[in-house]
Amino acid sequence: MKSPLADRICVVGAGPAGLITAYTLLRDGFHNIELLTRDDSPGGVWCAQRVYPGLIINNVHGEYRFSPLDMHRPSHNKSGGVRLSGEDMQSYMEEFAHRFLSDQIRYGLEVKNIRYEDSSHEDSDVQRTWIVSAEEVKTKHPITLEYDNIVLCTGLAVGESNDIGGDGKILVVGGGKSAQDISAYLTQQGKHVSMVFTTAYPTLAFPFHLLASFAGADEMKEAIGLDRHAPNPFSMKYKWKYCSLSNPSTAHPDSKQRASSIYRGIVPAKNILFRDLAINGAIFTTNNGYVYEVVAHWISSYFLGSQSLRLLSSAEEAMEHAERHAAWLRLRHPDILLAINESYSSDLAFFCWPQLADTLLEDMRLASRRDGGNTFTWPFKVIDLSEIANLSLERSQLRASEGS
Ligand SMILES: Cc1cc2nc3c(=O)[nH]c(=O)nc-3n(C[C@H](O)[C@H](O)[C@H](O)COP(=O)(O)OP(=O)(O)OC[C@H]3O[C@@H](n4cnc5c(N)ncnc54)[C@H](O)[C@@H]3O)c2cc1C
Repeated sequence: MKSPLADRICVVGAGPAGLITAYTLLRDGFHNIELLTRDDSPGGVWCAQRVYPGLIINNVHGEYRFSPLDMHRPSHNKSGGVRLSGEDMQSYMEEFAHRFLSDQIRYGLEVKNIRYEDSSHEDSDVQRTWIVSAEEVKTKHPITLEYDNIVLCTGLAVGESNDIGGDGKILVVGGGKSAQDISAYLTQQGKHVSMVFTTAYPTLAFPFHLLASFAGADEMKEAIGLDRHAPNPFSMKYKWKYCSLSNPSTAHPDSKQRASSIYRGIVPAKNILFRDLAINGAIFTTNNGYVYEVVAHWISSYFLGSQSLRLLSSAEEAMEHAERHAAWLRLRHPDILLAINESYSSDLAFFCWPQLADTLLEDMRLASRRDGGNTFTWPFKVIDLSEIANLSLERSQLRASEGS
């Protein structure tokens, strides 16, 4: 029987989730991996085409990286304080890709369609072939590729910051940190920006000086004159207005059907026995680095056919499990993004990401609660990537001891 390590694996997307997934699979001995992205450079949301000056992310240094590569401590960051800039993320993702994955990534290739052959087979032993139809972004040249396994890491990356051109007025929809960052940046460029949002954050709606300090943008304060004048709306150099949508949009009409079929936020439940399709990056969490890395290991164990991986034994069981979990999520968090589509978000592990990581580690029969904490300290877990740095080794030792 063919070794799973010979499988041709396609990872779609070169954002953080795609990079750590491809790295982990390579490290485990899969040697036939291609990572496809429509972008010209690695990083996804944090790639060169999307990062713009003044972009400050939500995370601080050490919080958003992977265990194989340290992140240089940023020295600049005058506006972001201790938080990382978009450029910090971009250079980290580029270094990661160039150091570990330079032979695997194919840039400028947009995946248009994925289908499999032998769809009539229900038997889990049947090896399916995935047919990926892609198109070269620059030439529009169509390409057809074949793989044994697929990992979807297509994330959220849409559009490019360079696309925002022209002299027209710009509407920014949303009132969170990213909306404020991009509004500050565009205002700096002399653009007329209007913001609309459903929820008025107190700091955003009133008064202006709080808005500026919340955005953490010295340039913005300068642009609206806060460095030179007492804070009042008339000191704004450029036009920047905002309003609140009076009738917030309702959840997607199909939301009851959505986000229900992804087991553990990783595998479409009805496919669970095939071990040839997985998703990384669809779990909504405050710590993407740690969670994506643990998910990558789970996926690798799954593709390896590891007997030690705790898995449900039928598609029906997996569907029921996923449906029950989704029902709880809908009840507990009725407003979250589960309504957008099936792959985003398939699970929500916001501040409870350590618990989710522990569940996945236990699925792999590995030690959980690695920080040595307990039920009371666990919500305050310090992020320490060294505790998952040897997962590949731990998993291979486990497989060897079980003879699988
Ligand atoms: C505006 C914004 C601000 C954010 N701020 C933060 C933050 O401060 N902190 C934080 O932790 N997270 C933040 N996020 C979340 C962000 O999505 C994650 O940090 C992370 O980038 C997700 O990684 P990913 O690999 O799943 O997806 P992405 O980074 O979105 O990468 C997706 C990849 O898939 C590729 N792709 C998609 N479709 C196709 C296709 N059809 N064919 C080929 N390639 C394709 C893309 O080109 C890209 O390479 C932010 C997201 C956005 C949009």
